[in-house]
Amino acid sequence: MAGNRSALLHRNMSAPPRAAVGGDGPYVVDAQGRRYFDGACGAAVSCLGHSHPRVAGAIAAQLNRLSFVHSDVFTNEPAEALARWLVDRTPEGFGEGAMLVLGSGSEAMEAALKLARQYWIEKGEPQRARVIARDMAYHGNTLGALAAGGHPERRKPYAPLLIDVGRIPACHAYRGQAEGESLEAYGARMADALDDEIRRLGPETVAAFVVEPVGGATMGCVPPAPGYFERLREICDRHGVLMIADEVMCGMGRTGTLFALEQEGACADIFTIAKGLGAGFQPVSGVLASEKVVQALRDGSGLLANGHTYMSHAAACAGALEVLRVIEEDGLLARVRDLGERLRAGLEARFGDHPHVGDIRGRGLFQAFEIVEDRAAKRPFDPARRIAPRFKRAALEAGLITYPSAGGVDGRQGDHVLLAPPFISTEAQIDAMLDTCAAVLDDVLALQPA
Ligand code: PLP
Repeated sequence: MAGNRSALLHRNMSAPPRAAVGGDGPYVVDAQGRRYFDGACGAAVSCLGHSHPRVAGAIAAQLNRLSFVHSDVFTNEPAEALARWLVDRTPEGFGEGAMLVLGSGSEAMEAALKLARQYWIEKGEPQRARVIARDMAYHGNTLGALAAGGHPERRKPYAPLLIDVGRIPACHAYRGQAEGESLEAYGARMADALDDEIRRLGPETVAAFVVEPVGGATMGCVPPAPGYFERLREICDRHGVLMIADEVMCGMGRTGTLFALEQEGACADIFTIAKGLGAGFQPVSGVLASEKVVQALRDGSGLLANGHTYMSHAAACAGALEVLRVIEEDGLLARVRDLGERLRAGLEARFGDHPHVGDIRGRGLFQAFEIVEDRAAKRPFDPARRIAPRFKRAALEAGLITYPSAGGVDGRQGDHVLLAPPFISTEAQIDAMLDTCAAVLDDVLALQPA
């Protein structure tokens, strides 16, 4: 690559990204030898950092044995072992035939939506075709997943291509809780919006409700209100609607438990998982379907009406299985909870009284702070100030990778910074990341409008 010349179609054609050439634990190393602490794991992906001899070794060994076979003809040992490992640790009600292994979060979401649809066909209720999702959700960028997503700006260019999805507000206490309303009452009100929407569409037409247990990329680590998921579960059960929990970003230990939903006293009918599953060593994702869903297929056609070439990819599965074994054997879920507390306390200490930080939120090593112009009124900055992209750039200059996003309030306004450091980070690295964030925020706020 010479200068700005590149045969790749980069996301920003006028400013191609710098080149990374190496990974060293939680650090990414660029072509100039500069080291960047990965405070975002890319986007909540690289939970074991960027080099891990055990995972690299497991993938290399598998590549030397068998890299790929088509799932229509063969199964393979690492795919079977990965599915078994996960099913053994899934909440009750998941068993034989529960897992599909795919390549990306979007692919998993497409497969989950199609599986929900197939479930109803097998059950003899083909009129159940509607999906309901939440405002400002992010479920991926393929057309089905994007249709479920609720970010107006991301949907806009493709709107004519998207299926019509029922919509309810997200449960986002900082933005939605009314004056004098308890968190529990707010959660119940937001859950009841699902009941209203199912009734509006006609319960006999609704196939599935899709929800991120902790709202990720678009809203910035928004945890559910207490009791919200239990009530959602009751509502889904009342109307026979399947609940799909999109744990692509918040799952696989990121919030301190293997599944984020474990903390909510409710279970989904279908889970999607991705990012932390492969930890970036291989592209891999999964769909886990409950026994109820799988049994309907078994009793019906006995066939999965969906497929992709790279399903159950042997090398990807070997990598994912090793990632999960490392998380378990090295006690990293407890580590996420401990470091998560430190991260949260550090955010509170630095930004709790900051005049331009309106909210600090998240779970485990999945935390965000929202930057506002007026803290009392919760008023976001004018998007022309470009706070989020400027933060990202300034942090990178300071050797820190973060995941800031703009538009988290309504698709256009709002700035937050998402932090999702590796599970293998040290206390000192977490503290240094927070110090850098504090200094960068002050620098960015001092900049004049772009
Ligand atoms: N679902 C959620 C909750 C996500 O955060 C993402 C990606 O950020 C996706 C789905 C899509 O995953 P991918 O980018 O791997 O297709």
